[in-house]
Amino acid sequence: MGLAGRRPALVNAFDRALADRLAALEAQGLRRELRCVDAAPGPRVVWQGRTYLNFAANDYLGLATHPALRDAAWRATEQFGTGSGASRLICGSLAPHHELEDALAAFKGTAAALSFSSGYATAVGTICALLGKGDVIILDKLVHACIVDAARLSGATIRVFKHNDLNRLEALLRWAASPDHATLVATESVFSMDGDQAPLREIVALKERFGAWLLVDEAHATGLYGPHRAGLADELGLGPRIEVQMGTLGKALGAAGGYIAGSRPLVDWLVNRARSFIFSTAPVPAQAAAARAAVELVQTSAGAALAGQLWARVAQARTALRLPALAAPQLTAILPLMVGEETRALTLAAKLRERGCFVPAIRYPTVARGQARLRVTLSAAHTTEDVAALAAALDAVHFQP
Ligand SMILES: *Cc1c(COP(=O)(O)O)cnc(C)c1O
Repeated sequence: MGLAGRRPALVNAFDRALADRLAALEAQGLRRELRCVDAAPGPRVVWQGRTYLNFAANDYLGLATHPALRDAAWRATEQFGTGSGASRLICGSLAPHHELEDALAAFKGTAAALSFSSGYATAVGTICALLGKGDVIILDKLVHACIVDAARLSGATIRVFKHNDLNRLEALLRWAASPDHATLVATESVFSMDGDQAPLREIVALKERFGAWLLVDEAHATGLYGPHRAGLADELGLGPRIEVQMGTLGKALGAAGGYIAGSRPLVDWLVNRARSFIFSTAPVPAQAAAARAAVELVQTSAGAALAGQLWARVAQARTALRLPALAAPQLTAILPLMVGEETRALTLAAKLRERGCFVPAIRYPTVARGQARLRVTLSAAHTTEDVAALAAALDAVHFQP
């Protein structure tokens, strides 16, 4: 008798129940599966023996395979080993973590910074440390799932405003304003699935008028905008007016992890109260060292050149895909090609793969139902020929943005 035959009936029933749920997802075009990629992340991916042009990664500057980051990771591994050994507050607070945080604070122009094992852990730890029952959190409708989950877990009262709608935000701020509780507004600076930007100047002015706090998630802007490539707040000179500047280390910065940059009291409070920081093993030394190398690299002229190359590819793609032209600080590396129906997005993505282009079909629950899209992301590592090949493949599958 095989192993399966000896499984208790209850376990079999459990698996049947899950199989039924998966079949329901499949029927709606919503089932997801992992694809094992057989090559380093980069402008090309190898999958099941075939090479594709990769328009799916968030490695916007090509830093995930950059020699400076690799060297930093090697050296940290040689010196500190592969694991941090414990959480930061027990004995895992190694030199690479402190060096990363010093570099992040200098980069963002803040008094202090704190790193986390992921962007997800950053949002959950930070928001739950700042807010509790009786407080209010006001979210842009399109903020990342980690901010939504954090808001729910915090116990604060949640209000949501239509994406980038300043009138709705103002009405909610007026409703929430009270000296008796905290009010936190949370937005992204560049939105992960729509690739547009928040009106940060206006949001900062509004939260100041109503005495609220602001958290800006720069996951898709860190490394890309501003005189130091520190993000959109850097570009707009707004950093000092934002209480909580959040970002990730795994996108343009080519490593992994998340960070908060802000005042000393903010960081000290998070060290004491952010549960995802306190009750979690410190990130591996290689991760922190690679991220620090990236933070330093993006601020140099080499970083400026990589960003310039990215914006040139984005401008080329916008023209080739007949999208409205935008000037440099308004450009983002994320081009959502709206499809609508989930199964149609899957079919288009499969046809693009047949033509050698890997573009993900983004579906519910990442975006709303019926708003499935092909999410094209560009990198400084793409060539002009790569972008032309994507445009040709989209034409060949008769996709009209
Ligand atoms: C990717 C992302 C995160 C999560 O960061 P991870 O390091 O991948 O956990 C948070 N916010 C936004 C807007 C993101 O796009």
